[in-house]
Amino acid sequence: MGKVILPPSKIGIIGGGQLGRMMAIAARQMGYRIAVLEPGVDSPLGQIADTELNHAYDDQIALKLLLEKADVVTYEFENVPYKAVRKLGPLGYLPQGEMPLVITSHRLREKLAIEEAGYNVAPFLAVMSKDELRYAVKRIGYPCILKTSSGGYDGKGQWVLRSDDDLPEVLTIADDNEYVLEGFVNFTKEVSVIVTRSTNGEVQAFPVTENEHVNQILHVSIAPARISDALRVEAESVARGLIEKLDFVGTLAIEMFVTDDGLVINELAPRPHNSGHWTIDGCNVNQFEQHIRAVCGLPLVKPEVRGHAIMVNLLGQHVDDALSAWQKPEFSDGKLHLYGKEELKRDRKVGHINFVGDEWGALEAKVDRFLDGLPE
Ligand code: AMP
Repeated sequence: MGKVILPPSKIGIIGGGQLGRMMAIAARQMGYRIAVLEPGVDSPLGQIADTELNHAYDDQIALKLLLEKADVVTYEFENVPYKAVRKLGPLGYLPQGEMPLVITSHRLREKLAIEEAGYNVAPFLAVMSKDELRYAVKRIGYPCILKTSSGGYDGKGQWVLRSDDDLPEVLTIADDNEYVLEGFVNFTKEVSVIVTRSTNGEVQAFPVTENEHVNQILHVSIAPARISDALRVEAESVARGLIEKLDFVGTLAIEMFVTDDGLVINELAPRPHNSGHWTIDGCNVNQFEQHIRAVCGLPLVKPEVRGHAIMVNLLGQHVDDALSAWQKPEFSDGKLHLYGKEELKRDRKVGHINFVGDEWGALEAKVDRFLDGLPE
């Protein structure tokens, strides 16, 4: 059994981005206090935390201070240096431990762990040199995708190879890093499941979400996903099985491809996920509150969707037009969430807007009109 951490205890969060901010908003509503470790000042979470430690994530003194100050510590992203967490974790209460970071911050380890748990991933081979890349391309065939093993996100650190013509460019970088070469999956849909496991072993999965990407960045999430009942049951069972087999505590987001031969897991994240932002307005419990409940040893809530929900991601280039549209009566019931990022950089996630409705056709038509008003 995990420790029960009740409000007004202090929750420490490593990482000050939007995921930490939304965790903190949920936690503050319940009466918790928040401390954050984040090198940048005025971060999305720093703006609303009680205590801000502006130091590197692996700064030994700052991490020690966070563990001492907070009654429980969690993280909001997977690139927190796990060696520092392993070393200092015992000084405080970090119920998730470092293993979710060890596995999910490294594509190769992640794929091996998924396979070992008995689930499907795309065919893959590790690549650490030019020769290994040539060999892997021969074995896997075109089209395929070269991905950096660590540090890539939203399509960054990825190269699609369609023929021998694409090889010379990637051969120039093959010796510089660790990569995974992946076979291209012919998917009909991309879906995700967010599943939460508490320190008491209770597991709850959110309804399967359907995700549409533009330029490899999540654009729109639709919940519940428009898939067959059999596939929905299978996706939820994969999620429950995986979090238990991996023995993770907290939140696990699982991105999957739907193919004619079944589900193929693309990627894991040991934290709330962009594709679960709809739960804030479209579900009886949201992924952030559920995460806080999980690490605080509280009972989890069985998620129930309210009608249909569509989340639209707002990137830097979308904000002006989204704010204009939101002031019109037609879109004013859209639930706006901006993350407090001052610089509206192109292709940077700066917010999202949730639309919820009982009638799918009317909701879809409204969101289509909203999207028509946004720039590419
Ligand atoms: P990732 O960063 O691995 O989540 O990849 C970003 C997006 O690229 C995914 O959501 C897919 O749309 C696409 N993608 C990644 N890997 C594959 C693959 N093996 N086959 C087909 N599409 C992929």
